[in-house]
Amino acid sequence: MNEVCHLSSGSIRLRNDDPALPAIGSTLPQTSLSGGNGTDMADATLLDQWAHVRARLQAEVGDVEYRTWLRQMAFGAMDGDEVTLLLPSRFLRDWVRNHYGEKILTLWQAQNPTVRRVDIRVGLGREGLAESLSAQASPTPVPPQEAQQNAMPSTPARPSFPTAGPRSAEELSAPLDPRFTFDSFVVGKPNEFAYACARRVAEHPASQGFNPLFLYGGVGLGKTHLMHAIGLELGRGQTRHSTVAYMSAEKFMYRFIAAIRSQQTLEFKDHLRSVDVLMIDDLQFLIGKDNTQEEFFHTFNALVDAGKQIVVSADKSPSDLSGLEDRLRTRLGCGMVADLHATTFELRFSILQAKATRASADVPSKVLEFLAHKITSNVRELEGSLNRLIAHAHLFSRPITLETTQELLHDILKAHDRRVTIDEIQRRVAEHYNLRVTDMSSARRARAVARPRQVAMYLAKQLTARSLPEIGKKFGNRDHTTVMHACSRITELMEKDGGFAEDVDLLKRMLES
Ligand code: ADP
Ligand code: MG
Repeated sequence: MNEVCHLSSGSIRLRNDDPALPAIGSTLPQTSLSGGNGTDMADATLLDQWAHVRARLQAEVGDVEYRTWLRQMAFGAMDGDEVTLLLPSRFLRDWVRNHYGEKILTLWQAQNPTVRRVDIRVGLGREGLAESLSAQASPTPVPPQEAQQNAMPSTPARPSFPTAGPRSAEELSAPLDPRFTFDSFVVGKPNEFAYACARRVAEHPASQGFNPLFLYGGVGLGKTHLMHAIGLELGRGQTRHSTVAYMSAEKFMYRFIAAIRSQQTLEFKDHLRSVDVLMIDDLQFLIGKDNTQEEFFHTFNALVDAGKQIVVSADKSPSDLSGLEDRLRTRLGCGMVADLHATTFELRFSILQAKATRASADVPSKVLEFLAHKITSNVRELEGSLNRLIAHAHLFSRPITLETTQELLHDILKAHDRRVTIDEIQRRVAEHYNLRVTDMSSARRARAVARPRQVAMYLAKQLTARSLPEIGKKFGNRDHTTVMHACSRITELMEKDGGFAEDVDLLKRMLES
């Protein structure tokens, strides 16, 4: 057996500057980063190996985990037998070290047997640089040589920068999922308004009062589905000659940066301005990406002025999308703003029914009812659960019953039953900021204590059903106005400081998982 398999989960973190950790044993000699042979090993081979490690990692941990924790990891350097990988925050670094450290080391060794250690540190790699570059992207073309230096290793998780701009409007658009039609969209109270607006736009693009159409709502409530439905509908009947471009805001940004790099900005602009309908999904992604926002704003104006239709989706209403430029927010709110509300039991039940019928699966009503009661978070998860049941029934030629459902969906149902407690939040937050749990309810007002305490209050409000006074009581009998203040302060700080927001978001995800 490879010696790596014997390493404890803490071994990956072992460094001279981390005396709290147990010794790793004599098999792995320690070399400091700066003490290596100094050769620049960040060559094509290493980047290639890194690309393989990433791809394997993604395949092993799955897309969701990969995107949550690992996507931002970048290659730093190789010195002697040690590889340095970089992550943008302390929190991510600790999480990845503890949960994926060993796996990463094993994967590296499979690519390169000389690697004996992986050090995960806080820092920006080339990709991080590329990202900050994209946030700052100047509209002036980047000299080719510089573009070369910033080139990223191609990885499966991140769209690579194409070298040339798209040649036609079709190429500009991401493909539309043929399943996401108006017919397959189940209409109920929470989404009927958004549905009606989308239909209207598909039938009469750019009509007065509906341009732009701004769809917003939480994850998995059908925004993307409706946008695809608009695109698919426009491809039929009288409107079939309209050119429709649909893309995520992220893709928009990558295209834009790619155009700058390959000095094809004008071409890119022309392409965008030549479409009849432009749809941008998940606009919240552009927050903080000022130059891309600006480009989008100009495209937006040019298209609307030319009588073309714009459809945009986001997770919040225009007025709540703070961080977007004011003038853009104002314009986005000028047409029709329609929200998709959280689903009701009735809607969830109808969606399940429709999906079961479509799959010609015989699922008892009792099971559909059970699922609609239990899985309330989003339609995607509901759909996934149903698919699992159907696949299992097919595979084993067994009928679907309430018992098999509970058995098969055990993990999902458990997650939904799970309730985070305030005690747990306090414990995790204290741990994260190196404080004692008692600091959460103490009277200490030093910022190093008060800020984490505010984070914990904010998370308690977000993740539990407790009222403000109840939360205040748990934090050393504080007044409900203190909790309220903490919540708005943290929200404000998160909007201003991306690093802080990421920390809080990750804490939240950790508590939810
Ligand atoms: P969002 O873009 O809002 O995050 P999506 O449009 O991707 O959500 O929807 C998630 C999944 O749920 C998709 O597979 C979509 O088809 C399905 N879905 C959401 N709402 C409905 C609905 N009302 N009827 C049928 N399917 C739906
Ligand atoms: Mg979506």
